[in-house]
Amino acid sequence: MNQFDTVAAIATALGEGSIAIIRVSGSEAIPIVDKLYRGKTKLCTVDSHTFNYGHIVDPETGERVDEVFCAVLKAPRTYTGEDVVEIQGHGGIVAVQRVLRLVLNHGARLAEPGEFTKRAFLSGRIDLSQAEAVIDVIRSKTDMAMKVALSQVEGQLSDKIRSLRQKMVEMLAHIEVTIDYPEHDVEDVTTQHVIREGHSVVAEIEKLLAGATTGKILREGLNTVIIGKPNVGKSSLLNALSRTNRAIVTDIPGTTRDILEEMINLRGIPLNIIDTAGIRETEDVVEKIGVERSRSALNQADLVLFMVDASRPLEAVDRELLAAVAPYPAILILNKLDLPRQVDGEELGRLAAGKRIVETSVASGEGLEQLEAAVEELFLSGGIEGKEGTYVSNARHVALLEKGMREMREALHSAEVGMTLDLVAVDVKNCWMSLGEVIGEAVGEDLLDQIFSQFCLGK
Ligand code: GDP
Ligand code: ZN
Repeated sequence: MNQFDTVAAIATALGEGSIAIIRVSGSEAIPIVDKLYRGKTKLCTVDSHTFNYGHIVDPETGERVDEVFCAVLKAPRTYTGEDVVEIQGHGGIVAVQRVLRLVLNHGARLAEPGEFTKRAFLSGRIDLSQAEAVIDVIRSKTDMAMKVALSQVEGQLSDKIRSLRQKMVEMLAHIEVTIDYPEHDVEDVTTQHVIREGHSVVAEIEKLLAGATTGKILREGLNTVIIGKPNVGKSSLLNALSRTNRAIVTDIPGTTRDILEEMINLRGIPLNIIDTAGIRETEDVVEKIGVERSRSALNQADLVLFMVDASRPLEAVDRELLAAVAPYPAILILNKLDLPRQVDGEELGRLAAGKRIVETSVASGEGLEQLEAAVEELFLSGGIEGKEGTYVSNARHVALLEKGMREMREALHSAEVGMTLDLVAVDVKNCWMSLGEVIGEAVGEDLLDQIFSQFCLGK
């Protein structure tokens, strides 16, 4: 990847809507497009941040390829920090691809996935966690996940991390001064200061990590297992849920590694109905693969929807499954409300052990709203918007924050047992570096390439 040549790619999702944008970035962006653009004036003469109406013409044949608006954006106030031309075409996908080919034939190189964002990062326009958040925006599966990702783009997580690192720099400065001027005898004071600040750093990191579970769920979906003995209505429930909730198709062009998942959007929460062989292919888990296998499906579950047929008395297998479900976040669904009731409510209440019970008739649709509300409540406790906090949703960030937390705890331990301050400083410094990696400071080139290769073309 040569950071100084000029690159181009289609920046809009292929096949979506009638407008497509080709983004060209680099020092030659304007001259290259000028070779193809016919408008009132040459683009090299227009002001920055202007929209220019004209046509893209094949200079060899003189043929008009598309009617366009060209946005001319001069460095440094652009997404990449370089000169950028965005060609907004109207002629549909074939025309857009012809325009792109012309641009490539006249001096630009096809951008690698994520290269625009990488350039933005390299030019200092955005920090690494913001760059990664762009990936999350591209890949986010529901509006709510999008919101979390966007708030990260806006730098919430970065701000938090910067202020923590600032705190650590101050701790290190105190230590430095104490070591350099031992005659002032302030070692105790400094140690106390470091312990106080260190605890507050650990507490802040803990808070960030507490939001991580929610973040992961929003990104990857809530792994949901529907469980219950044969004929209670599991398949009917799955059908009803997918019918009333927009199915999420995650196959955004360019993110082809994202296989189609069985995912539904339940009030903004992506539910990933786990596609284990047991659950999809053999409908009746208990009958066909037995209680043991149902248990192993449970292992992957973030949420269990446990179904019981209210029109039949509880059986041994219900009790056994209920016991297996006990350690998981689960909602008990008492189905077939429309039929005469046979189930012993009192026993069920006892076995449910504090789990929420929702009564439904999946056949008539009754109770489904309550079920959705119960799912929402269980995981968001009142909805994500009203909830304060920064959601860490990226596995790399989580790992680094955990590492940083261990390092700061190590520093605290050293300080508390009276180790010398230079030893304490080593761990504080490590924590500072780990957190720095979250926002892309002190990151090796390998890691950078790995992060940016996750982008789709045109971003
Ligand atoms: P599964 O074996 O647990 O997947 O159950 P199914 O979804 O295949 O349903 C078994 C049978 O129960 C089917 O005939 C459904 O139409 C029926 N059923 C499902 N939900 C209800 C309900 O709420 N009321 C009534 N009366 N029948 C239902
Ligand atoms: Zn079934």
